[in-house]
Amino acid sequence: MRLDKYLAETAQCTRSEAKALLAKGRVTVNGAVCRKGDTQLKEADAVAVDGKALAYRQFVYLMLNKPEGVVSASTDKRDTTVVDLVGDAYPRRELFPAGRLDKTSTGFVLLTDDGGFAHDILAPKRHVSKTYTVVIDTPLTEEMKAGFAAGVTLADGTALSPAEVSALTPDGLTVRVLLRQGVYHQIKRMFGVYGAGVNALHRDAIGGLALDESLAAGQWRELTADEVAKIT
Ligand code: URA
Repeated sequence: MRLDKYLAETAQCTRSEAKALLAKGRVTVNGAVCRKGDTQLKEADAVAVDGKALAYRQFVYLMLNKPEGVVSASTDKRDTTVVDLVGDAYPRRELFPAGRLDKTSTGFVLLTDDGGFAHDILAPKRHVSKTYTVVIDTPLTEEMKAGFAAGVTLADGTALSPAEVSALTPDGLTVRVLLRQGVYHQIKRMFGVYGAGVNALHRDAIGGLALDESLAAGQWRELTADEVAKIT
């Protein structure tokens, strides 16, 4: 890869900013100052800016705590999107949400520019689980539990795969739901079959990775490689 492209990717700057770093002699390759943006880097070359080593990452993976009212999209004419919340932190990357939460739902949204990874975790065959805390307006019943476990058939005839539901509070109004597929408005429609409405829905985990509780609504952070591995 060309040095200027590599700089833009790793130092998260534009090509012209990368050129300026090079012109000022702030970039070294294997310890020697290099001013030429078209230098072709080899795998083992060590690049540094102001003496600080850069590590190339092909993709980024972010965990975002989606607030209510924000849409799970990259762009939207009317509403703030989950990608808008990241601002211009990654000017050269095309981030998108890997999976959706309704506008009214809150919690864990994974943002990435890795299309292959997103495809993998969303593929029905992979059965990557998603865990939610849901507030319903009718207490959880044994009938709902048995129905979720067997696989609910939605009002339009869609037969869903088995899911898990359990009460989190003694009144049975706050429940934990675990899904292994993603159908539009799935949880709302599943409870709807039993005449129950959903008052709040928060995604707590994707696969084996829980939402970092220190992230306030609207905040995000990068995932480590270990955390990314926990998702699948
Ligand atoms: N199910 C829903 O109904 N809404 C969501 O946002 C996620 C799952």
